[in-house]
Amino acid sequence: MTVSANLQEIRSNIRQACANSNRNPEEITIIGVTKYVTIERTEETINAGINDLGENRLEGFLEKHEHFQDQAKWHFIGTLQSRKVKDIIDKVDVIHSLDRLSLAKEINKRTTVPIDCFVQVNVSGEKSKHGLSPDTVITFLNDVQTYENIRVVGLMTMAPHVNDEKLLRDTFRQLATLRSAIQQENLPQAPCHYLSMGMSNDYQIAIEEGATHIRIGSKLVGTN
Ligand SMILES: *Cc1c(COP(=O)(O)O)cnc(C)c1O
Repeated sequence: MTVSANLQEIRSNIRQACANSNRNPEEITIIGVTKYVTIERTEETINAGINDLGENRLEGFLEKHEHFQDQAKWHFIGTLQSRKVKDIIDKVDVIHSLDRLSLAKEINKRTTVPIDCFVQVNVSGEKSKHGLSPDTVITFLNDVQTYENIRVVGLMTMAPHVNDEKLLRDTFRQLATLRSAIQQENLPQAPCHYLSMGMSNDYQIAIEEGATHIRIGSKLVGTN
């Protein structure tokens, strides 16, 4: 399938999910996750009208960024080791995986302009998943306030890899509830407007529960 054909179907599903939940499709940003695919397929993705690209590994990110530069807005969506921050910091637009204070400190040190970050939250509590546990996020955000170059624009989560719709919905809803609690805090460094949640298999549910950024790989670009 062409990326355009896939995108058409995804857009139609987004419209449906928005209709179901009284939302405006324009609130939803599709991040095309190109980690599985070649430069050529990534070019097809940009040409299909996707402006936001996501990579989860340093090498893949650097390769795609070098090729496309400012033709896309770049989202780093994978686990980020502190010692690699310096390699991506001047190239990335948004980091979706802020999950510890030592990483915030390193990002703050390596950049001179404030950088948009999502705090990754492990809602489901699975041991295999990265992210802060929900009950520690507000304390974390208070601690982050000392880092003037970190701007927490939202929360990110990865749902469990299951087909249990109720469990998925519940996970996304918890993230949305946490966002509301954070907004009540009125933290200057953490406006926390956005929710980065929903992937190929669960983005419709995520949108119905408030996602503003969906990260779509396999259903948009394929897997090879
Ligand atoms: C790979 C990946 C995605 C996209 O996964 P698909 O199921 O292929 O859509 C989204 N978010 C993160 C963090 C990923 O690593």
